[in-house]
Amino acid sequence: MQKHDVCEQEEKPPSEELEPPGAVSGGSLVATRPAPIAAVTAATSVKARRAGNGREWVVSPRSEAFRRRFWPAAGEAEWNDWHWQKRNSIQRLDRLAEIIRPLPDGAALHGENMPNLPFRITPYYASLLEPDDAPYALRRSVVPSAAELCPRSEELTDPLHEEGTSPVPGIVHRYPDRVLFLVTPHCFTYCRYCTRSRLVGKKSRGENAFAAWGEAIAYIQQMPAVRDVLLSGGDPLMLPNTRLEWLLSHLRRIPHVEILRIGTKAPAVMPQRITPALVNTLKRFQPLYLSLHFTHPAELTPETTQACERLANAGLPLGSQTVLLRGINDDTDLLMKLFQGLLKIRVRPYYLYQCDPVSGTSHLRTSVDRGVEIIRGLRGHTSGYAVPTYVIDAPGGGGKIPIQPDYVAGKRGNMLLLKNYRGKLYAYPDNQGGEV
Ligand code: SF4
Repeated sequence: MQKHDVCEQEEKPPSEELEPPGAVSGGSLVATRPAPIAAVTAATSVKARRAGNGREWVVSPRSEAFRRRFWPAAGEAEWNDWHWQKRNSIQRLDRLAEIIRPLPDGAALHGENMPNLPFRITPYYASLLEPDDAPYALRRSVVPSAAELCPRSEELTDPLHEEGTSPVPGIVHRYPDRVLFLVTPHCFTYCRYCTRSRLVGKKSRGENAFAAWGEAIAYIQQMPAVRDVLLSGGDPLMLPNTRLEWLLSHLRRIPHVEILRIGTKAPAVMPQRITPALVNTLKRFQPLYLSLHFTHPAELTPETTQACERLANAGLPLGSQTVLLRGINDDTDLLMKLFQGLLKIRVRPYYLYQCDPVSGTSHLRTSVDRGVEIIRGLRGHTSGYAVPTYVIDAPGGGGKIPIQPDYVAGKRGNMLLLKNYRGKLYAYPDNQGGEV
C-alpha cells in the first residue's frame, strides 16, 4: 500500500474536545443528544413491540430515540426490517458526519485519500456511536481513520497467507480436518482492522473470489478428511435465507462433513437480521455452530440479547470472537464486562485475537504483552467460561497459536512450582515421569 501525504502528520490521540455534530443545512437533524450508552443499556423500560410484520421485536429506548431523530420518516416496522437497515446503511463520510463526529483525523479523508476498505455502518450500529462515546472507542472500530493510509513495513495485505493456502476460489485449506469457505465479500458493517480487507467490500476482485460456490463444494466433496466447514467472508448472514439454505443443504449432503460453522457479526451490528425465519432455517442444519464477533460491552444491547436468545433457544451453540484493539477494548475490566455479559446471553467467549498485521492497522494494534496481561487479569478472577483463548494467527499461514501467561515458576526435585492467579506459589508432585 502506498503511503499518503497524511502519513507525515503525527497520529493524534483521541480527543474529547471536538464539537458534536450540529444541525446540517438542508438536513433533518434534531439538536437533542441521545442518552449515553451506559444509561441506555441500564434502562429497564425496554419494550417488546409488534413490528407490523407479526413478529415481536425488542426496541430499546436508545434505538427508538435515534430512529426518531435521524430517520423520522421511518416507522418501527422499517427499523426492525433488516432489508431496510441494509438499504439505509451509512456509506458516505458526509452522511456519517450528520450523525456523529468524525474521528479527529477524519478531515484528511477525501478524494484520493480514502482507505482501501470501504466503510459501511448500519443505522442500528450507528445508534451506538453517540457523541459521548469518548474516547471514541466503538467508532474507531468502524469509522475510517487517516491512519489507515499509513501502512508500516511489517504489515501485509494478506498477513495470514490465505491466497497461498487456497486450492480453489473461496476455500482456504490450512488445517487437516477443516476448511474456511468464503461465501460473500459483503458485511453489514466493515471493521477497520479486518484481516480480509483485501477482499471484503470489493465489487471486482472480491466478487470473483466469492462466486465459485460449486467449485468450492466440489473440493470439499473430494476431501474426506474435512469434517468441519466454517462459512465466513464477509458475513454469510448477508445472504438471503434461500441462498443460505441452498449452501447449507449442499454441505449437509456431504457425508464426511460432521459440523458446520458460520462466522457472523450480525447479532452485534444488525440484530434485526436474526428473524424467526432465519432461525428456523439454521436450526435444520445442526450441528451448526455460530461464531459471533463482538468488540465492546456497549454492543450488548437489549436488541442483541434478543437476537442471541433466539439463536440459543433454537439449540444453536454460540461462541464469540473478539479482536484486541488499542484504545477500543484493551482494558481488563472492560473485557471482563464484555465476556461476563456474553455468558449472560448464552454466548461462550471463545477466542481473543491479537490484531493481525494488516496494512494500515498499526494504530489499532496493542503489544502482545498487553494481551497476556489482560488474560492474567481474567484467569482466576472470573469464571473460566468467561476467559477466551488468546491467540496469534501466525503471519504466513501458520494457524492460531495460543499465548498464555506463564504459571509455571520452576521445578524443585520432582515438585513442579506453580503460581496461582494471585501470584502465590504452590508445589505439585510431578513424579509420574519416573524421576523419584
Ligand atoms: S465482519 Fe468480519 S469479515 Fe466483515 S469486516 Fe468485520 S472482521 Fe471483516
